[in-house]
Amino acid sequence: MAPEPIFSSPPTIHPGDSNDRSLRVVSSRPRPQCWEHGCEGREFSTFSNLLRHQREKSGVVAKAECPVCGAVFTRTTARNIHVAQGKCKGTGRESSAE
Ligand SMILES: [Zn+2]
Ligand SMILES: [Zn+2]
Repeated sequence: MAPEPIFSSPPTIHPGDSNDRSLRVVSSRPRPQCWEHGCEGREFSTFSNLLRHQREKSGVVAKAECPVCGAVFTRTTARNIHVAQGKCKGTGRESSAE
């Protein structure tokens, strides 16, 4: 007489539990982070948001505008030299339009 295999009853599945687990799997995805511009690991919900943030930040950092004449420079040092050496046309009071 061969011993008959004993089948244990299958575990009951609650549909509510399975839904809860699938949600946790989605939330466990690593979020894109920014470690530049002093963000110190700032998290973004999507990667496109991170790219847009970095593009905006790089655009602001790359350009420096003269507060007097409004000339745009690629670097802040160039803007400082422009103002310090008196090359700015806005500093001269040639046009007194008051
Ligand atoms: Zn950043
Ligand atoms: Zn200027």
